[in-house]
Amino acid sequence: MSAPAWSDDQDSSESNAACTLGSLTLKLAFFIFERPSWLTDKKGLMTKSHSPFDVRQKFDLGNGQQGQFFSLPALERQGIAPVSRLPVSIRVVLESVLRNVDGVRVTEKNVRELSQWKPNAPRTEEIPFMVARILLQDFTGVPLLVDLAAMRSAAARLGKDAGIIEPLVPVDLVIDHSVQVDFAGTPDAMTRNMDMEFKRNRERYQFLKWGTQAFKSFSVVPPGIGIVHQVNMEYLAKGLLRRDETFYPDTLVGTDSHTTMINSLGIVAWGVGGIEAEAGMLGQPVYFLTPDVVGVHVTGSLREGATATDVALTVTQMLRKAKVVGKFVEFFGAGAASLTVSDRAPISNMAPEYGATIGFFPIDERTCEYLLSTGRSPEHVNTFRNYYKAQGMFGMPAPGQIDYSTTLELNLADVQPSVAGPKRPQDRIALPELKRKFVEIFEAPLQQNGYNKSSQDLPKRFATTIGCSAPVTQMVAGGGAQAIDTMPTSVGGSNQSQRNTSSWTELEMANNRPTPDIVKQSVEATVPACVDLGHGDVVIAAITSCTNTSNPGVMLAAGLLAKKAVERGLNVPPTVKTSLAPGSRVVTEYLSKSGLQPYLDRLGFYHVGYGCTTCIGNSGPLDARIEDVITSHDLVAAAVLSGNRNFEARVHQSVKANFLMSPPLVVAYALAGRVTVDLATEPLGRDSSGQDVYLRDIWPSQKEVQETMRTAASPEDYQRIYSDFASQNPMWNHIPSAPGTLYPWDSKSTYIQEPPFFDSFSLKPPPFREIRQARPLAIFGDSVTTDHISPAGAIKATSPSGLFLQQMGVPVSEFNSYGARRGNDRVMTRGTFANVRIKNLMVPGVEGGVTNHMPERKMMSIYDAAMRYKAEGVPLLVIAGQEYGTGSSRDWAAKGTALLGAKAVIAQSFERIHRSNLVGMGVLPLQFKEGVSAQTLKLDGSEVYDIVGLDAALRPQQDLTLRITRLGGVESVPVICRIDTPIEIEYYQHGGILPYVLRQLVARA
Ligand code: SF4
Repeated sequence: MSAPAWSDDQDSSESNAACTLGSLTLKLAFFIFERPSWLTDKKGLMTKSHSPFDVRQKFDLGNGQQGQFFSLPALERQGIAPVSRLPVSIRVVLESVLRNVDGVRVTEKNVRELSQWKPNAPRTEEIPFMVARILLQDFTGVPLLVDLAAMRSAAARLGKDAGIIEPLVPVDLVIDHSVQVDFAGTPDAMTRNMDMEFKRNRERYQFLKWGTQAFKSFSVVPPGIGIVHQVNMEYLAKGLLRRDETFYPDTLVGTDSHTTMINSLGIVAWGVGGIEAEAGMLGQPVYFLTPDVVGVHVTGSLREGATATDVALTVTQMLRKAKVVGKFVEFFGAGAASLTVSDRAPISNMAPEYGATIGFFPIDERTCEYLLSTGRSPEHVNTFRNYYKAQGMFGMPAPGQIDYSTTLELNLADVQPSVAGPKRPQDRIALPELKRKFVEIFEAPLQQNGYNKSSQDLPKRFATTIGCSAPVTQMVAGGGAQAIDTMPTSVGGSNQSQRNTSSWTELEMANNRPTPDIVKQSVEATVPACVDLGHGDVVIAAITSCTNTSNPGVMLAAGLLAKKAVERGLNVPPTVKTSLAPGSRVVTEYLSKSGLQPYLDRLGFYHVGYGCTTCIGNSGPLDARIEDVITSHDLVAAAVLSGNRNFEARVHQSVKANFLMSPPLVVAYALAGRVTVDLATEPLGRDSSGQDVYLRDIWPSQKEVQETMRTAASPEDYQRIYSDFASQNPMWNHIPSAPGTLYPWDSKSTYIQEPPFFDSFSLKPPPFREIRQARPLAIFGDSVTTDHISPAGAIKATSPSGLFLQQMGVPVSEFNSYGARRGNDRVMTRGTFANVRIKNLMVPGVEGGVTNHMPERKMMSIYDAAMRYKAEGVPLLVIAGQEYGTGSSRDWAAKGTALLGAKAVIAQSFERIHRSNLVGMGVLPLQFKEGVSAQTLKLDGSEVYDIVGLDAALRPQQDLTLRITRLGGVESVPVICRIDTPIEIEYYQHGGILPYVLRQLVARA
């Protein structure tokens, strides 16, 4: 596969004035595309006469030619605001707002408001951010591609060319989330794991492969190439994009919380839910609340022994304390300038762990160095440098140059070798303290987050035999499953959880991952070994996660440490499951070129796959006998990993203590075989001559790492590796893929189905439909989360989705999760409101997705009731309390609500993004006035409802009337229409954002 074609030659032609639709549609057709024709000249550039700000300027491309840009210094010269004192990250967003003014989606007012950003003003305004591209991973990306494919099918049914349906900004999907470490510690582990991965995901991969040939602006990086954020760093990110003659910053949103890793390259980006990504993909703005920006003034330089991972763990702890949830964090100062982009990357990656929206490093010479060293052309990097210089955004800001909301200090010289855990990423422990800390937590009561064990338990050992060929009957856990009590809930309807975390990112991390299979232990013909296990023993040691595998310094340090360990005759105990999952093929290249991989292999750190693996909980099964000892003696076993999250049971269901650390420390603790060791004073083991070997004996110096780096991957290696994916993954080549622009939907598929969003679709928006004689599908209390509305986890066999899957011939053991089946609306619609914990007040005392079908008051599943109402032609409402839709933004929470037939949701308050997602799916959000609720109105679900005042002249936030008819009479209460903006009115009138966009695209054709 070649590099994504997206660069400077996208068609920016305007919408076609000859379209034959009604006047409303004609008007809309003008502003759906990148720039309305009445604002642009023939080349699609904004004409001076219509530009609200005369800011188009030229800059030197560095090759004797000139390019155009929307100049922020020019904006400042107009006296609008002192733009050059704004945080650099805010200026990047401002450039997008300025460039995309069309008077409808983005207005002149938006430009003025953001230019006049004040460090400490109340944050009430939302920014419409038009991102330059979209990044997806396989788990979250499938439903977005399903929607695009469904739009094409709908266009074809209208007799139109389906090829007109294309993402309006480039979309890259990297397949990395599905590989599991079923096999480890052997030379063929990777091949066997990929084999399993392809078996498990065949249907979805076939579909994604169809997408690669069907869409010009949609690219897939196949499985076995790398991890999404590392691939973004090394290959996908351009730093600067071009449309016609105009250059603009690379910006993006991704459907994965660690999208922030690219902030280390000076790119503004963060993780969003599916519908926001879909909106971005379809040329609509992503809205976010104007943020505070926390400046982190970085000074000093790293001491010997400290790594980039240690900085990331230190920053995570520090920023968690500083409460940065929902804020931008921007690093500056001489210390930040001294860090390479590879050293900045783990810090930016962990923004979700410290709760910030982004962890941004401004663009400087280090950024250029990184782009060059990873194979980007010198010409491109020259233009990149010149562009940011012309914008006044090049170079690491010094103290006093920028106005931040708050400034924090970080001296790199204070950073110590560290680990974080055992249950939370922000609980950093200085390396020499780990033994003491483990013992303390081991004995601490559960209420204090301890393991509640006695000191007598600690030295106990339990013997077993592993690697034997006798059959094992038990099923073993296939990886992690985050404990329900570690899931965050938000406070006051905000994105902040009760534990001072970002609820969106935490839930995204917990839910957007495949459900690990429970597997029957396969009998391996290895040499049996008698072993014993005790508390604090390391059973998983994983070099994993783009957080660290993107950093050649720490990866080579792991290799150097392994080399010295092997040379001293050290070994990893057989009870440790060792794995190495590089974030890209480049890692393999430099570990092999430097001659270090054979030493890692000797210690069992064979490649297990190019993907998230243990970082996402896909750690795979432990040896059944080890798992048996752990579970039968309730051992507090440990995992050591170079990942970024470690909630209890997250890494593996049987492993309670999980410590995050740098790759060389992962190797060190694998050698030690336990975390109950003080590596500052106690030996790792004995060498072949019986001498103690200490960590300090084999720890590589900074000089050794630097010297090895010089012989590591060259720019040409990056170019070669990323120029040809086909030869790197024959299994992907063998996946059969349907040809053509239209996807051949298979009615028997249980993973991919055409959603009915475009059933009976016509080119004309539907006539405005009143909501009359509606019935409530459910009445909920406060804080109903998106997980209540659309669970992502396991599918119960007796639930509507479970029964449906069984009807389709899927055995319960192969149900997988709702998350994995989100490409199938039949499963997801049945799963809407199917969370076993949801409480519908229409059926008091009952938990789960049930309701009373009215008027006969017959109890049944919410899905069955919805289908019955549908057959009866009865419109539905959902009624709720405060903070409806909190938690992670989940596309199916809004999609499922719409497909069940709910025309409106009436709540006391809404979570911000879920409200807009409902509008995006054509569901009307209505808000009770202050002091009014289902309880004050004494609603029990037997009522019939009308929404009075709802007509074609609907305005944002207009008052409407809810007329409630019940046995005792009729009552009318005012409600607020929570369609908040004019563009949302358009979405609603079209039945949602998908039909809205489809009509524009068809009109253009
Ligand atoms: S390796 Fe970890 S951090 Fe990176 S994309 Fe995968 S799950 Fe996210």
